[in-house]
Amino acid sequence: MTAAARKLYGLRHAIASHWPIVTAIMAWPLLLTGRLSLAALGRGELASLSAVTLLASAVGWSVAREFLPLRPRTKPTSAWRELELGIPLATALFVLCALSGGLRSFLHPLVYAFVSFTFVVHRTRGGAAGVLMAVAILEAILAARERQMAGWMLAGQHLVFVGFFAAGVRLVLGSLTLRLRRDHARAVADELARMRQDAKDFRLISAALPLESRARTRADEEARMAHAAALGIHEQVFHTLELLRTALGLHTAVLLWCEANDGADTSRSQPRLTIKELTSAGELLLEERELPSAALLTTVLAEPRPLRLHALGGKRLPPYYRGPEPVTDLCAVPLLAGPMLRGILCADRIGDRPFSDDEQRILERAAGHILRVVEHERVFSAVERGKYEQEQFYRASELLNSALTLDDVYEKTFAAMRAIAGYDLAVLTAVSGGKHRVLAVDARADEAEPELWEQAATRLRGLEFDDPASLVAMATKNRHYMPAGGELSDPDAVVWTARTRLRQAKSLLVLPLVRGDDVVGALTLASGRPQLFGAQMREMLRVIGHQVGVSLQNAQMYQQMEERATTDGLTGLTNHRAFQERLAQLHALSERTGGKYAIILTDIDRFKSINDTYGHPVGDQVLKRVASVFAGRARKVDIVARYGGEEFVLVLPDTDGVGAESFANRLREEVAELAMTSEHGGFNVTISMGIAEYPRDGRERLDLIERADQALYWCKEHGRNRVRRVSAAP
Ligand code: GH3
Ligand code: MG
Ligand code: MG
Repeated sequence: MTAAARKLYGLRHAIASHWPIVTAIMAWPLLLTGRLSLAALGRGELASLSAVTLLASAVGWSVAREFLPLRPRTKPTSAWRELELGIPLATALFVLCALSGGLRSFLHPLVYAFVSFTFVVHRTRGGAAGVLMAVAILEAILAARERQMAGWMLAGQHLVFVGFFAAGVRLVLGSLTLRLRRDHARAVADELARMRQDAKDFRLISAALPLESRARTRADEEARMAHAAALGIHEQVFHTLELLRTALGLHTAVLLWCEANDGADTSRSQPRLTIKELTSAGELLLEERELPSAALLTTVLAEPRPLRLHALGGKRLPPYYRGPEPVTDLCAVPLLAGPMLRGILCADRIGDRPFSDDEQRILERAAGHILRVVEHERVFSAVERGKYEQEQFYRASELLNSALTLDDVYEKTFAAMRAIAGYDLAVLTAVSGGKHRVLAVDARADEAEPELWEQAATRLRGLEFDDPASLVAMATKNRHYMPAGGELSDPDAVVWTARTRLRQAKSLLVLPLVRGDDVVGALTLASGRPQLFGAQMREMLRVIGHQVGVSLQNAQMYQQMEERATTDGLTGLTNHRAFQERLAQLHALSERTGGKYAIILTDIDRFKSINDTYGHPVGDQVLKRVASVFAGRARKVDIVARYGGEEFVLVLPDTDGVGAESFANRLREEVAELAMTSEHGGFNVTISMGIAEYPRDGRERLDLIERADQALYWCKEHGRNRVRRVSAAP
């Protein structure tokens, strides 16, 4: 090819590819000479008609090429490219103005709109400036056509306004972008700060976690740990990507992650790709995490091998861009864990600089490093989780050992189970002689259907049952947790009774509470979350179950001991020491509240002779029967105590002397009617009673007892089988 031919070819090629802008500029002289006017068109001048047609098609062509990318683009965004759209459009606009009245055309405001539009869509400074220049020239052409000073003045005014529009739009856009960027940066900083705090909290917690803190459940802890691990991964990956970007002069470095499809056939359907971490010099990056398509990366997905693409020319873009970025080269490296594709590390560049073999190797090594980071975090959090579980386990044991009362055992059992396993419903039952009794219930569903769990808890409180086919009965009988696999396969299974089924439960575990050779009860845990009680968890809970069994029995023994210390062995009534304590409490309360109470001191008449006549054991029987009359007639708030020997005392809160007197007389009559039996035949007993009333008969507790004793003595003096009030008329 000769030099001339090459030049000719170049010219032809330039005209062919830039004909819209050439056409537009060629229309300018026609516009100046008035050939593009309504009159000229009306005369049907060929030049005018063809110029308008050509211009219209040039504008159509440019707009279509810009906004309907039917063919792959061959050139990156540039000022030239923007002029190719802007100049034909501006020219067409001014031709319309010329046709409809020149500088004063009602269509002229469209020029301002056009300038604003230019500044919104144009990304290069050259493009915007070039279009502004064209507008100025076209404005001058219209003014020149007027051939008057007024025309030039008007055009000048127009241009001042155009300048205002351009500056205004730039200012608004600039500050808008700045604000968006700042907001985004702040949001990111906040999120990072929150995650860091979480991670810090978590490490503190793992050092010493208070089991009593109700807010912290196992699920919370797991979320925290996962959060901390994810933060660790993100930080390390980000640093790696930044390093790659600086070292290899990348435009963008991005880690894409494969999310396995939920569908069963994972071999065929391609996994979804999401952006896990990204660093870029570009601006038009995808805002959402999930990629709309795999675009250039489909081959890597189909066959995980490194991919290098060259001469993309900004046309074919990697899928993590949302708009045209002048990317020319791409290197994508798969992250492989065994045969599994976990993700893709992508690096791209601008400026036609292909990736070398060495650079690809660096990227492959970085991909390996990222995989190891993920793996390390996974192992690290597994270790942390194990540590956490162990700590909970020991704390639970420790706490359960320290629980003295039954309520304490219930509370600490539930706290331990929450910390170790988590549940929506926990139920403690006691068993004795095949009969089960619900001791305590705790419902804490906060996610799904809390009211269902609450209803179940309400039905269970205080329940007694003996269904031998219930899971609780089977667990206690076989001394083995139920259901066998730890998973509730039959939602209709009878856990306690047929009326208290748990259809909303997805996980269920009934643990027998074992103490030595005895099974003292069962602990049932239920949750709406599936697979909560895996093999390892069941083993841990089984051991805790033993601990709960021991604690439960200890607390029961403690309770018995306490009862023994406060009750009289023969009659089962409150003993003298406990009576003094309870009376002191009541007295203090009455002093504070201004309440009243009555004391009835009782003595069996001629008891010595009963002992002498029928024997001591018969005397004991008499004591028991008299005591049961008193206990049977007294209210719950009354104190009924054995004062000593064959003397009893009753204290009636909120009762005056007269009320106490009639009550005492009823007791006296009932005792007198008791038919006593002995080897030497039947007999009856009578009692005498003295009554003192607080505060009427005295303000001191011991004083009142003393005065009641005096009234009792009066009865003995006056024939026995009598009741006497301190304040009775003599
Ligand atoms: P009085 O009508 O004056 O009360 O005559 P009394 O015989 O009941 O006289 P007193 O109250 O002094 O007698 C108390 C007797 O109660 C003395 C003691 O042998 C007897 N006693 C005390 N405690 C017990 C006990 O736990 N069992 C039996 N069987 N007798 C007891
Ligand atoms: Mg006595
Ligand atoms: Mg007596």
